[in-house]
Parts: sequence; structure tokens; C-alpha cells
Amino acid sequence: MRVLLLFIDGFGLGSNNPEINPIVRFGLPTFNQLFGQPMTYDIGSILTPERCIIPIDATLGVPGLPQSATGQAAILTGLNTAKIMGSHMQAFPGPQLANIITETNIMKKLTAIGLPATSANMYTPNYFELVAKRKRRHSAITLAALSTGLPLRSLPEMEINEAVYQDITNATLPDFGIGHLPVLSPRQAACNLVNISRKYSFSIFEYFQTDRAGHKQDWQHAENILGILDEFIDTVYKQLPADTLMIITSDHGNFEDMGVKTHTLNKVPLIALGYQAQKTVGAITDLTGIVPALVAVLGKDDLCD
Ligand SMILES: [Zn+2]
Repeated sequence: MRVLLLFIDGFGLGSNNPEINPIVRFGLPTFNQLFGQPMTYDIGSILTPERCIIPIDATLGVPGLPQSATGQAAILTGLNTAKIMGSHMQAFPGPQLANIITETNIMKKLTAIGLPATSANMYTPNYFELVAKRKRRHSAITLAALSTGLPLRSLPEMEINEAVYQDITNATLPDFGIGHLPVLSPRQAACNLVNISRKYSFSIFEYFQTDRAGHKQDWQHAENILGILDEFIDTVYKQLPADTLMIITSDHGNFEDMGVKTHTLNKVPLIALGYQAQKTVGAITDLTGIVPALVAVLGKDDLCD
């Protein structure tokens, strides 16, 4: 069994109101087809053996708006990191949270029991230089990927279709001085992601344009993003190998309410598609439930087959 986790930053379940929710205004036909209704908080839980959506809590019982550093850390470690840290922590983990992520994340846990884990994201060649100059900081997901001991993917991997850039299509790479790579269709990028996932027990791809569009209340970017995401997710789902479970989730709401610049208190979707979907995610209620469920099913699979 394999797991492919598509992490979408700031992607909650909002109201059925096209005035504030771009998912309602522009649509996500793939999810409508999968679940028979728009992806709003009215959808509730839908649990079938190979197709599930569960609204899960991202606030973790801690006051204030949920944030990326602690939210992603909870998804990756299964710990209530907001409670441990005493508050929701924004954007990039500081040293204490970074230590928790590095020591206890799912990618490291799986690697330690012989189940290889990878991040499919491409990092620009100067990424580590920018981190050294304190112009960039590692996200929680990057810290988890680094803890496996495997190198991050960069241009050589992208050139042989074994990486996916954070914007999915490579369209923004020229903004970072990388102009020689072709712009990919979301479909091609999705095929690259699926092909990566065939070689690992656990693969993760981090997408954060949703959070950016939400903070900027940028409707045009939101429409563009939804078109890309729809084709990307539809293709990953249709190409998914029979032994693979695809999980889609988020760290907090934001994109689904363009009426505010901030994150939201909305629940986030936990979507599970494919192999063992309902058995794996059926009992999860918040961000901390994802790791124990995945480790249980991947570890068991390893022992039994
Ligand atoms: Zn944000």
C-alpha cells in the first residue's frame, strides 16, 4: 500500500455563497462529481469504501485563528502542536517547533521502519543559499522531508519529470530566474506526481497558492488556481494506482472566505480517495488523527504482505 498526500494550504469548507467563496463561484467540478455536491460546510461527512470526505477541526481546542506552522506540524506529527506550543504559530516553525517536527514526523517514522517517504516538491537551486541568508525559512513539510535524509528535489529531477513545482505548472519559475523549463499542463504535472508516488510508500506535495490568494483576496488568482487544481486533482485521481490511497487536506481555512484577509475558523476537508479510504480515515476528527491512521495502515500492510 502507498499513500499520496496532497496538502493544500488554507483550504477550508466555507459557506455556499458565491459572493465570498470562490469554490462556489467558480466551481471544482472534480469534487462535485466525486461527492455529488459543492465542497462547502453543508457537505458534512460522506463515507464510502473508496471515496470519503470528512470536515475536520483545525483549531485543536486552542483559542485564536489556526496557523500554518502548528497546523502543518499537527498533520505531520499527529501531536496537538498548537496546545504544546501554547498558541497557533504562523507560517514557518521556530526552533522548538522545528525540533518536534524533525524528531516525530510521519516521513521520518516511516523511513525508520523501511517505508520510504518523499516530498515531490521542486526547490529552486538557490533554496539553501536563501535559507542560509535568512531570506527563506523551511516550512514544516520541508523540515519533515529533510528529516528523512533524502535530498530535496530540484532542477535535475524536474528535467526528467520527477518533481512538481509549488505552482504545479512551472509558470512562475521565470520570476525566480529559471526560464528554460517548459510550462506544464496540470495534467502533465499530475502524471509526474503519480509516477513519483509509485516509488515510495508515502509521498507528499505541498501547494500554497490557495493561502496566498486568500490573504490577498485575489479573485482572479483564485479562479486561475481552481482551474489548475481541478485538472491536477482529477488527473491524479484517475491515474491513481490500485494500491494507492490519495489524501487531500489542509492546515486551516482561508481561501474559502474571500470576505476576510485572514485565516478562518472553518473546518478543513479530509478527503480520502482510493485504496482503503474509509477504513483508514473513517474515525479521524481533527488534524492530529491523520498520522496515527496512516502509520497504522502502512505499518500493518508492511507486516502482512
Ligand atoms: Zn496563511
